[in-house]
Amino acid sequence: MQHYKNFIDGKWIDSESKETIKVDDPATGKVIGEISCAKKTEVDLAINAARKSYNSRILVDMPLLSRAKLMRKIADETRKVAKEGGEVLCYENGKTLGAAVKEFNDVADMFDYYAGLTDKLEGKTIPVAKNVFDYTVLEPFGISAHIVPWNYPLSMIGRSLACSFATGNSTIIKTAELTPLSATVFAKAIINAGVPDGLINIICGYGNEAGSYLVSHEDVNHVVFTGSVSTGKKILHACADKAIPAVVELGGKSAGIVFPDADLDEVVDSARHAIFGVAGQICTAMSRVVVHKSVKDELVDKLVDLSKSLKIGPGIEKDTDLTPVISENQLQKVEGYARSGIQEGAEAAHGGKRVERDGYFMEPTILNNVKQDMTVAREEIFGPVLSVIEYDDQEEAISIANDTDYGLGAGVFTKDLKKASSTASKLEAGQVYVNKWFTGSHATPFGGYKQSGYSREKGIDGLKSYLQVKNVGISLS
Ligand code: NAD
Repeated sequence: MQHYKNFIDGKWIDSESKETIKVDDPATGKVIGEISCAKKTEVDLAINAARKSYNSRILVDMPLLSRAKLMRKIADETRKVAKEGGEVLCYENGKTLGAAVKEFNDVADMFDYYAGLTDKLEGKTIPVAKNVFDYTVLEPFGISAHIVPWNYPLSMIGRSLACSFATGNSTIIKTAELTPLSATVFAKAIINAGVPDGLINIICGYGNEAGSYLVSHEDVNHVVFTGSVSTGKKILHACADKAIPAVVELGGKSAGIVFPDADLDEVVDSARHAIFGVAGQICTAMSRVVVHKSVKDELVDKLVDLSKSLKIGPGIEKDTDLTPVISENQLQKVEGYARSGIQEGAEAAHGGKRVERDGYFMEPTILNNVKQDMTVAREEIFGPVLSVIEYDDQEEAISIANDTDYGLGAGVFTKDLKKASSTASKLEAGQVYVNKWFTGSHATPFGGYKQSGYSREKGIDGLKSYLQVKNVGISLS
């Protein structure tokens, strides 16, 4: 069993406590590796390293084109470890090898993208009074702590770290205890790129221990959290106690509205990626389809055909479509939701149970005749379970889609772009996809409405989450 360590101040560090976290392969349930578990001692080491590097101003004062070059080097080195890291990610998370390698390449794209923005962080001049020259500068916060989840372990690191680095912050990343190994392969790219020590630190420990200690630490100036609403609220309380800013990216219960003129094959293709990809463990999963009654039966038949056609298996095997969920706990939770849907009156048009084999596999599940007051229509399931809800008219469809505490994603399927645009304007969600789920890229802002979080990641908007504005007024009289 391979042993992995924390990456602090440019060095590989074992925990003083000698405690380790075992990581298993969701496709088999077998342990594949262990990582040294960061405790307060290691969190302190990481914070000290980040503080030392920040106070040295090595990144802040680096010529901006040199910062950009360093970021492009990180991107290149990340691509070089994408195959090795993708394999580790595939085994620890369960997702397909292709999706896992893509995560590494997405990180590289993020670094390339933000590299191009390092020298475009422009302030402005403000007319104040005669003989006063007033201007603004955009400055980093200092030490930025990033807590990431297990469903996209690398992509979530990439989008926050690249922006944090581009804006001059020193960063500490705490990976999720279920998927900490692949990030250590990424740390190799950091070393190979020649990043000065302490600017990027990657540790893994338990959330309620290392995670909460990290975000509450008085020397941390800025927090980025991606994860569940319940943990997000705790993080926000911790940040409020210190009056520091937080970027929070939380869960979702996203609905795709299907109008009668929609191309139903597009809807099915979106379902393939957006509810069965990564076994439905996607924050913007299309977990509800709100479909006009005139096309509901036809759509359900097509969704059932899709479900039957999916090859279930380990992500490492070629041609696998549906991979396992992350853990036995998650599997029980997802199966419990499917059961509750059926008990509350939905019909399992396909699936509904765990797959009887090693590992944590759930059947692709289509729940038909779901009503908006059922638990499956309201709570984030985070598994391959799609709820089909029928509607009569456009206003009802929009009201069903918005009838949730979440506001992360939403979709509209129609050939009428006027209707798509008017519907999109009424949907309470941070991103709206028209005729195809996941149209975004590293350049598009991403974030939630309502309880799905606030601030934005990615794109030019993402920069604002990592910078503070300083106003300088010079008297010329
Ligand atoms: P989680 O909230 O259980 O854990 C997320 C991270 O927080 C982990 O690293 C964990 O160790 C840490 N943590 C737990 N308790 C903590 C505490 N008290 N203080 C500090 N850190 C703590 O979430 P999860 O189960 O890992 O992830 C799934 C959730 O993440 C889903 O709700 C999903 O929708 C959401 N998510 C959102 C986005 C987005 O961009 N909006 C992206 C991916 C996942």
